[in-house]
Amino acid sequence: MIGVDLGGTRIKAGVVQDGALVNSITVDTEAEMGPAHVLDVIAETVARLEKNPSAVGLAIPGGVNPEGICWRMPNVPGFEGFNVSAELKARLGCRVVVENDATTAALAELKLGHGRTHSSFAMVTLGTGIGGGIVIDGQLRRGRHGFAGEIGHTPINRSDTGWPCACGLHGCVESYAGTRGLLRKYAELGGKADEIRPISEAARQGNVAAVATFAAMGEALGIGVSAIQNTLDLDAIIFTGGISPSFDLVEPALRASLKRYVFGPPLAEVPLLVSELGERTGLLGAAYLTTL
Ligand SMILES: [Zn+2]
Repeated sequence: MIGVDLGGTRIKAGVVQDGALVNSITVDTEAEMGPAHVLDVIAETVARLEKNPSAVGLAIPGGVNPEGICWRMPNVPGFEGFNVSAELKARLGCRVVVENDATTAALAELKLGHGRTHSSFAMVTLGTGIGGGIVIDGQLRRGRHGFAGEIGHTPINRSDTGWPCACGLHGCVESYAGTRGLLRKYAELGGKADEIRPISEAARQGNVAAVATFAAMGEALGIGVSAIQNTLDLDAIIFTGGISPSFDLVEPALRASLKRYVFGPPLAEVPLLVSELGERTGLLGAAYLTTL
Protein backbone atom coordinates (compact mmCIF):
# COMPACT_ATOMS: atom_id res chain seq x y z
CA MET A 1 0.00 0.00 0.00
CA ILE A 2 1.21 3.50 -0.76
CA GLY A 3 0.43 6.53 1.38
CA VAL A 4 1.26 10.18 0.78
CA ASP A 5 1.12 12.91 3.42
CA LEU A 6 0.90 16.43 1.96
CA GLY A 7 2.09 19.17 4.30
CA GLY A 8 2.57 22.89 3.81
CA THR A 9 6.36 22.50 3.50
CA ARG A 10 7.04 18.79 2.96
CA ILE A 11 5.51 15.88 1.08
CA LYS A 12 6.14 12.42 2.54
CA ALA A 13 5.38 9.27 0.59
CA GLY A 14 5.81 5.73 1.82
CA VAL A 15 5.21 2.05 1.23
CA VAL A 16 3.33 0.28 4.02
CA GLN A 17 3.40 -3.49 4.38
CA ASP A 18 1.69 -5.44 7.17
CA GLY A 19 1.16 -2.25 9.17
CA ALA A 20 4.80 -1.15 8.96
CA LEU A 21 6.39 1.65 6.98
CA VAL A 22 9.05 -0.14 4.92
CA ASN A 23 10.29 2.65 2.65
CA SER A 24 9.66 6.39 2.52
CA ILE A 25 10.75 9.55 0.71
CA THR A 26 10.41 13.18 1.83
CA VAL A 27 10.51 16.06 -0.67
CA ASP A 28 9.71 19.79 -0.57
CA THR A 29 6.10 20.72 -1.32
CA GLU A 30 6.98 23.79 -3.44
CA ALA A 31 3.49 25.03 -2.57
CA GLU A 32 4.11 28.42 -4.17
CA MET A 33 4.17 26.72 -7.62
CA GLY A 34 0.45 25.90 -7.35
CA PRO A 35 -1.63 22.74 -6.97
CA ALA A 36 -0.92 21.25 -10.43
CA HIS A 37 2.81 21.37 -9.74
CA VAL A 38 2.36 19.96 -6.24
CA LEU A 39 0.46 17.00 -7.71
CA ASP A 40 3.23 16.52 -10.31
CA VAL A 41 5.70 16.30 -7.43
CA ILE A 42 3.48 13.80 -5.60
CA ALA A 43 3.13 11.66 -8.75
CA GLU A 44 6.91 11.67 -9.37
CA THR A 45 7.57 10.76 -5.75
CA VAL A 46 5.11 7.87 -5.85
CA ALA A 47 6.72 6.63 -9.09
CA ARG A 48 10.09 6.52 -7.33
CA LEU A 49 8.56 4.20 -4.74
CA GLU A 50 6.50 2.01 -7.08
CA LYS A 51 6.15 2.09 -10.87
CA ASN A 52 2.55 0.90 -11.21
CA PRO A 53 0.74 1.19 -7.89
CA SER A 54 -2.78 -0.26 -7.72
CA ALA A 55 -4.00 2.48 -5.35
CA VAL A 56 -2.65 5.51 -3.49
CA GLY A 57 -4.00 7.19 -0.36
CA LEU A 58 -3.36 10.92 0.12
CA ALA A 59 -3.75 12.91 3.36
CA ILE A 60 -4.15 16.68 2.92
CA PRO A 61 -4.09 19.49 5.49
CA GLY A 62 -7.57 20.72 4.70
CA GLY A 63 -11.18 19.87 3.96
CA VAL A 64 -12.00 17.52 1.09
CA ASN A 65 -15.42 16.21 0.10
CA PRO A 66 -16.14 12.58 -0.91
CA GLU A 67 -15.70 13.53 -4.60
CA GLY A 68 -12.10 14.50 -3.83
CA ILE A 69 -12.60 18.24 -4.26
CA CYS A 70 -10.72 20.36 -1.73
CA TRP A 71 -13.01 23.00 -0.17
CA ARG A 72 -10.63 24.56 2.35
CA MET A 73 -6.87 24.49 2.77
CA PRO A 74 -5.53 27.61 4.52
CA ASN A 75 -1.84 26.59 4.52
CA VAL A 76 -1.32 25.49 0.90
CA PRO A 77 -2.55 28.12 -1.58
CA GLY A 78 -4.64 27.44 -4.67
CA PHE A 79 -6.15 24.09 -3.70
CA GLU A 80 -9.65 25.29 -2.89
CA GLY A 81 -12.07 24.07 -5.60
CA PHE A 82 -9.38 21.81 -7.07
CA ASN A 83 -10.30 18.15 -7.67
CA VAL A 84 -7.29 16.61 -5.98
CA SER A 85 -8.50 13.06 -6.41
CA ALA A 86 -9.23 13.30 -10.16
CA GLU A 87 -6.02 15.25 -10.89
CA LEU A 88 -3.82 12.76 -9.07
CA LYS A 89 -5.64 9.82 -10.63
CA ALA A 90 -4.96 11.29 -14.08
CA ARG A 91 -1.24 11.44 -13.26
CA LEU A 92 -0.93 8.01 -11.66
CA GLY A 93 -3.45 5.96 -13.60
CA CYS A 94 -4.68 4.21 -10.46
CA ARG A 95 -7.34 4.58 -7.78
CA VAL A 96 -6.73 7.54 -5.46
CA VAL A 97 -8.36 8.17 -2.07
CA VAL A 98 -7.97 11.66 -0.59
CA GLU A 99 -8.78 12.51 3.01
CA ASN A 100 -8.20 15.22 5.60
CA ASP A 101 -5.01 14.57 7.57
CA ALA A 102 -6.59 14.49 11.04
CA THR A 103 -9.23 12.04 9.83
CA THR A 104 -6.39 10.01 8.28
CA ALA A 105 -4.58 10.02 11.62
CA ALA A 106 -7.72 8.61 13.26
CA LEU A 107 -7.70 5.80 10.68
CA ALA A 108 -4.07 4.97 11.50
CA GLU A 109 -4.92 4.89 15.19
CA LEU A 110 -7.94 2.67 14.52
CA LYS A 111 -5.91 0.13 12.54
CA LEU A 112 -2.56 0.19 14.36
CA GLY A 113 -2.82 2.12 17.62
CA HIS A 114 -5.08 2.60 20.64
CA GLY A 115 -8.11 2.14 18.38
CA ARG A 116 -7.50 -1.61 18.58
CA THR A 117 -8.63 -1.47 22.25
CA HIS A 118 -10.95 1.57 22.25
CA SER A 119 -13.75 1.30 19.71
CA SER A 120 -15.10 4.87 19.91
CA PHE A 121 -12.58 7.67 20.11
CA ALA A 122 -11.58 11.13 18.96
CA MET A 123 -8.13 11.69 17.52
CA VAL A 124 -6.84 15.18 18.26
CA THR A 125 -3.82 16.48 16.36
CA LEU A 126 -1.85 19.11 18.27
CA GLY A 127 0.36 21.49 16.34
CA THR A 128 0.12 24.86 14.61
CA GLY A 129 -3.44 23.82 13.93
CA ILE A 130 -5.62 21.60 16.08
CA GLY A 131 -7.40 18.97 14.03
CA GLY A 132 -9.64 16.07 14.86
CA GLY A 133 -11.02 12.80 13.57
CA ILE A 134 -13.74 10.51 14.85
CA VAL A 135 -14.15 6.74 15.09
CA ILE A 136 -17.47 5.38 16.38
CA ASP A 137 -17.94 1.66 17.06
CA GLY A 138 -14.84 0.80 15.06
CA GLN A 139 -15.92 2.84 12.02
CA LEU A 140 -14.17 5.96 10.73
CA ARG A 141 -16.78 8.76 10.59
CA ARG A 142 -15.82 11.34 8.01
CA GLY A 143 -18.93 13.48 8.07
CA ARG A 144 -20.57 14.85 4.89
CA HIS A 145 -17.61 17.14 4.11
CA GLY A 146 -14.80 15.19 5.76
CA PHE A 147 -14.82 17.57 8.71
CA ALA A 148 -16.20 15.43 11.56
CA GLY A 149 -14.47 15.84 14.91
CA GLU A 150 -12.65 19.11 14.24
CA ILE A 151 -12.63 20.48 17.79
CA GLY A 152 -10.01 23.16 17.00
CA HIS A 153 -12.65 25.72 16.06
CA THR A 154 -14.87 25.21 19.11
CA PRO A 155 -15.58 28.70 20.46
CA ILE A 156 -14.03 29.92 23.70
CA ASN A 157 -14.32 33.69 23.26
CA ARG A 158 -16.04 35.09 20.15
CA SER A 159 -15.72 38.72 21.26
CA ASP A 160 -13.07 41.02 19.76
CA THR A 161 -10.81 40.24 22.72
CA GLY A 162 -10.62 36.57 21.65
CA TRP A 163 -7.26 35.73 20.13
CA PRO A 164 -7.29 35.49 16.29
CA CYS A 165 -7.53 32.07 14.66
CA ALA A 166 -6.26 30.91 11.26
CA CYS A 167 -9.91 30.28 10.31
CA GLY A 168 -10.60 34.02 10.40
CA LEU A 169 -12.63 34.04 13.62
CA HIS A 170 -11.58 35.08 17.10
CA GLY A 171 -11.26 32.91 20.18
CA CYS A 172 -11.26 29.31 18.89
CA VAL A 173 -9.70 26.47 20.92
CA GLU A 174 -6.88 26.53 18.34
CA SER A 175 -6.26 30.25 19.06
CA TYR A 176 -5.17 29.30 22.59
CA ALA A 177 -4.06 25.67 22.38
CA GLY A 178 -2.28 25.71 19.00
CA THR A 179 1.43 26.50 18.73
CA ARG A 180 0.84 30.22 18.08
CA GLY A 181 -1.40 30.49 21.14
CA LEU A 182 1.20 28.79 23.32
CA LEU A 183 3.97 31.09 22.14
CA ARG A 184 1.75 34.14 22.66
CA LYS A 185 0.79 33.06 26.18
CA TYR A 186 4.40 32.41 27.13
CA ALA A 187 5.43 35.84 25.81
CA GLU A 188 2.60 37.53 27.74
CA LEU A 189 3.89 35.88 30.91
CA GLY A 190 7.37 37.24 30.27
CA GLY A 191 8.94 34.18 28.62
CA LYS A 192 10.90 34.22 25.38
CA ALA A 193 10.71 31.35 22.87
CA ASP A 194 9.89 30.80 19.20
CA GLU A 195 9.16 27.09 19.46
CA ILE A 196 7.61 24.70 21.95
CA ARG A 197 10.64 22.72 23.08
CA PRO A 198 12.35 25.39 25.22
CA ILE A 199 9.02 26.13 26.92
CA SER A 200 8.64 22.43 27.63
CA GLU A 201 12.18 22.25 29.05
CA ALA A 202 11.57 25.32 31.20
CA ALA A 203 8.31 23.86 32.50
CA ARG A 204 10.09 20.65 33.50
CA GLN A 205 12.51 22.76 35.53
CA GLY A 206 9.60 24.45 37.30
CA ASN A 207 9.62 27.78 35.46
CA VAL A 208 6.37 29.44 36.55
CA ALA A 209 5.56 31.11 33.20
CA ALA A 210 6.19 27.88 31.27
CA VAL A 211 4.07 25.80 33.65
CA ALA A 212 1.26 28.37 33.41
CA THR A 213 1.50 28.34 29.59
CA PHE A 214 0.84 24.59 29.41
CA ALA A 215 -1.91 24.96 32.02
CA ALA A 216 -3.61 27.57 29.83
CA MET A 217 -3.33 25.21 26.86
CA GLY A 218 -4.93 22.43 28.93
CA GLU A 219 -7.79 24.68 30.00
CA ALA A 220 -8.51 25.66 26.37
CA LEU A 221 -8.16 22.14 25.03
CA GLY A 222 -10.50 20.92 27.77
CA ILE A 223 -13.25 23.15 26.41
CA GLY A 224 -12.90 21.52 22.98
CA VAL A 225 -12.70 18.01 24.38
CA SER A 226 -15.68 18.58 26.67
CA ALA A 227 -17.75 19.72 23.67
CA ILE A 228 -17.03 16.46 21.85
CA GLN A 229 -17.44 14.39 25.03
CA ASN A 230 -20.84 15.94 25.76
CA THR A 231 -21.86 15.18 22.18
CA LEU A 232 -20.45 11.69 21.65
CA ASP A 233 -19.56 10.13 25.06
CA LEU A 234 -16.41 8.44 23.74
CA ASP A 235 -14.20 5.61 25.09
CA ALA A 236 -10.96 7.57 24.68
CA ILE A 237 -9.46 10.84 23.49
CA ILE A 238 -6.17 10.24 21.69
CA PHE A 239 -3.60 12.96 21.01
CA THR A 240 -0.91 13.15 18.37
CA GLY A 241 1.24 15.79 16.66
CA GLY A 242 4.15 18.07 17.45
CA ILE A 243 3.11 19.01 20.97
CA SER A 244 2.39 15.45 22.08
CA PRO A 245 5.86 14.89 23.69
CA SER A 246 4.83 17.68 26.09
CA PHE A 247 1.39 16.20 26.70
CA ASP A 248 2.14 15.28 30.33
CA LEU A 249 2.61 19.01 31.01
CA VAL A 250 -0.84 19.75 29.58
CA GLU A 251 -2.78 16.80 31.00
CA PRO A 252 -3.48 17.96 34.61
CA ALA A 253 -5.09 21.23 33.46
CA LEU A 254 -6.86 19.44 30.61
CA ARG A 255 -8.38 16.91 33.02
CA ALA A 256 -9.44 19.69 35.41
CA SER A 257 -11.00 21.65 32.54
CA LEU A 258 -12.80 18.55 31.31
CA LYS A 259 -14.22 17.93 34.82
CA ARG A 260 -15.44 21.51 34.94
CA TYR A 261 -17.16 21.56 31.57
CA VAL A 262 -18.68 18.12 30.90
CA PHE A 263 -22.20 17.28 31.99
CA GLY A 264 -21.21 14.83 34.73
CA PRO A 265 -18.24 12.99 36.28
CA PRO A 266 -18.29 9.79 34.15
CA LEU A 267 -17.78 11.83 30.96
CA ALA A 268 -14.65 13.45 32.47
CA GLU A 269 -13.08 10.08 33.32
CA VAL A 270 -12.48 9.27 29.65
CA PRO A 271 -8.89 8.01 29.12
CA LEU A 272 -6.60 10.69 27.63
CA LEU A 273 -3.99 8.83 25.58
CA VAL A 274 -1.01 9.79 23.46
CA SER A 275 -0.60 7.98 20.14
CA GLU A 276 2.46 5.76 19.97
CA LEU A 277 2.62 5.89 16.15
CA GLY A 278 4.49 9.22 16.23
CA GLU A 279 5.62 10.82 12.98
CA ARG A 280 4.61 7.76 10.95
CA THR A 281 0.90 8.39 11.68
CA GLY A 282 0.19 10.42 8.53
CA LEU A 283 1.80 7.96 6.12
CA LEU A 284 0.37 4.87 7.78
CA GLY A 285 -3.14 6.34 7.79
CA ALA A 286 -2.81 7.54 4.20
CA ALA A 287 -1.84 4.04 3.06
CA TYR A 288 -4.82 2.56 4.91
CA LEU A 289 -7.15 4.96 3.03
CA THR A 290 -6.73 2.58 0.09
CA THR A 291 -8.51 -0.12 2.10
CA LEU A 292 -11.70 1.96 2.59
ZN1 LIG B 1 -10.81 28.89 14.29
